[in-house]
Amino acid sequence: MQYASDVTALIGNTPLLHLREVSERTGCTILGKAEFLNPGGSVKDRTALGILRDAEARGMLEPAGRIVEGTAGNTGIGLTLLANALGYKCSVVMPLTQSKEKIDSLELLGADLHLVPATSYKDPNHYIHRAQRLAEQYAEKEGCAVWARQFDNLANMAIHRDTTGEEIWRQTDGKVDGFVCAVGTGGTLAGVSAALKAHNPATVIGLADPDGASLYDWFTEGELKPGEGSSILEGIGVNHITDNVAEAKVDVAFQISDREALPYVFDLLEQEGLCLGGSAGVNIAGAVRLAEHLGPGHTIVTILCDYGNRYQSKLFNPVFLENRDLPVPKWLTI
Ligand code: PMP
Repeated sequence: MQYASDVTALIGNTPLLHLREVSERTGCTILGKAEFLNPGGSVKDRTALGILRDAEARGMLEPAGRIVEGTAGNTGIGLTLLANALGYKCSVVMPLTQSKEKIDSLELLGADLHLVPATSYKDPNHYIHRAQRLAEQYAEKEGCAVWARQFDNLANMAIHRDTTGEEIWRQTDGKVDGFVCAVGTGGTLAGVSAALKAHNPATVIGLADPDGASLYDWFTEGELKPGEGSSILEGIGVNHITDNVAEAKVDVAFQISDREALPYVFDLLEQEGLCLGGSAGVNIAGAVRLAEHLGPGHTIVTILCDYGNRYQSKLFNPVFLENRDLPVPKWLTI
C-alpha cells in the first residue's frame, strides 16, 4: 500500500511545470515549481513545517503549545493546518490589507486571528512587532508560546535549501542555469540559491522585486531607499533587510511592475489552465527577464507560489483592477 503518513508528508516534492508560451518566446526552457500543490495551497507550507520542526528540535515548543506568527496569510495558513495536525495551537497576526479570501481561510482553519492596520516596519504596531508581543503575552498566560519569526528565522531558508533547492537540482538533472523569484521573507530565494550555488557556483540567481519594494535598489546600488509599497500583490515586497534576505546570493535583479506581472497571471489561466496568485506573475516576468539576460538555450526555474482563488476579489475583479489602472483580463470585461 502507498500512503502519506500524515499531512506533513504531503508538503514539498512538487513537480516542475513547463511554461510553454514564455519558453517558446524566449528560446529558453522556463519551468515553474508547482508550489500551489502543497496542502495549504502555497510555498509557505514548507516554511511553516521547517520552523515548527526546528522549534521542536530546540525544545522550544511543548506538546499542545502555541505558535504565533505575523504573516501576509500564507504562512499563517500553513502553520494553522500543521498546528491542527500536530496538536498545537496557532495565533496569526495579519495586516487588514490582505485579501478577504485569506482571512476567510484562516477563520475556516480555526486560527486565533488578529487583524491589525497596515503600518510601516518602523512602527511598533507593525504586524511583525505585534506578533512578537502577542507571543510574549501568550507565553506568560499559557506557559509555552513560540514566535515563528519567519523573516529572521534561518530555519526558513534552511528548509528551502534542503527541500525546494535540492528538488530543483534533482528534477533538472543538474541542468538548471538560472533561478529567479520575488521575496517576502527571502526564505525561498536564500535557500534555493544556497542549494543551487553549492552544486554549481555558476548558476545565475535573479531577484524579481515588485514596484515599491526596496530590494532592487539594495542589490543593484547597495542602498536601502524607503519604498512606497505601491504594488497590489500580496506576500512579496519588503522594505527592510531580513536575516533571510541577507543570506541570498543574488547575481542580477529585476524590477517588475504590476502592469508587467498581471498579464502573465491572466495568460496562465487562459493558456495553461492554471489560476495562480500575483507573485507567480512577478516570478514568471522575472524568468522572462532572466531568459533575455542569459540568451536562448538556457533552463530557468521559478516558483508558482499559490492559487489565484485566494485573490479572486482583487486580481480577478474588473472594478478593483480598473480603479487602479491595471490590465483587466478580456474574459472579465462585458
Ligand atoms: N508569494 C506568496 C504568495 C507568498 O505568500 C510569499 C511569502 N509571503 C512569497 C511569494 C515569498 O516567499 P518568501 O517568504 O520565501 O520570500
